[in-house]
Amino acid sequence: MASITLDNVGKVYPGGTRAIGEVSIDIADGEFIVLVGPSGCGKSTLLRMVAGLESITEGTVRIGDRVVNNIEPADRDIAMVFQNYALYPHMSVRQNLAYGLKNRGTPRAEIERRVDEAAQILQIGPYLDRKPRALSGGQRQRVAMGRAIVREPAAFLFDEPLSNLDAKLRVTMRLEIKQLQKRLGTTSIYVTHDQLEAMTLADRLVVLSAGRVEQIGTPLDVYRQP
Ligand code: ADP
Ligand code: ADP
Repeated sequence: MASITLDNVGKVYPGGTRAIGEVSIDIADGEFIVLVGPSGCGKSTLLRMVAGLESITEGTVRIGDRVVNNIEPADRDIAMVFQNYALYPHMSVRQNLAYGLKNRGTPRAEIERRVDEAAQILQIGPYLDRKPRALSGGQRQRVAMGRAIVREPAAFLFDEPLSNLDAKLRVTMRLEIKQLQKRLGTTSIYVTHDQLEAMTLADRLVVLSAGRVEQIGTPLDVYRQP
């Protein structure tokens, strides 16, 4: 686990659009931060900068005590969960879970231990030999989370992981993510525009507006009626 520190972070896209300006946030070890705000306010850009999928044009991002501005995504010790699952269609669930670890040269016995543990946590054991197309949306999202868990990263980054699911499943999965957080306690940044997800999951909420931090606080602080 690790803290994440954003220090005066800014982003200007190559075309000249300013997406993020002067964002400073100290995320504690084990803290669950939810980024909220209207469409286009910069949530996705900010998350992708922490992930290394977008360049950081101003300021610094630290994961633990390491400045990661110039560190490749694969070397940042983070795992990201995407809205569209991003599973490999030709691989079984087990292969999807093992793939990233194999690439890193993790010993086979250790891979098996982590895959079994993730399968047990996420209750996807019965589906390990299926291909993603033979799974429901909720099962696919569990596999996507499993792929992040087996990495045992310093932090999880979630980009609207539940927004492709129907309303009922979103409720279930929201509670499952909460349980997961209690069990693993891994530092997380979670982007959503669902207020219930934000309130249920966040230790602290960061409200972005036009690329800047408008408010930061506990769900009670942020959603309390004036
Ligand atoms: P959100 O995730 O909150 O919807 P985004 O981070 O996607 O917001 O977008 C923030 C701003 O940056 C928007 O004005 C958007 O149009 C712009 N933007 C996002 N991606 C790019 C890009 N690749 N090139 C140029 N502008 C972009
Ligand atoms: P979301 O807000 O759900 O991430 P979008 O439809 O805003 O989805 O963006 C989809 C993709 O297009 C993202 O990868 C984003 O970076 C890119 N994008 C968004 N706005 C722009 C833009 N103005 N110019 C170029 N690319 C953009």
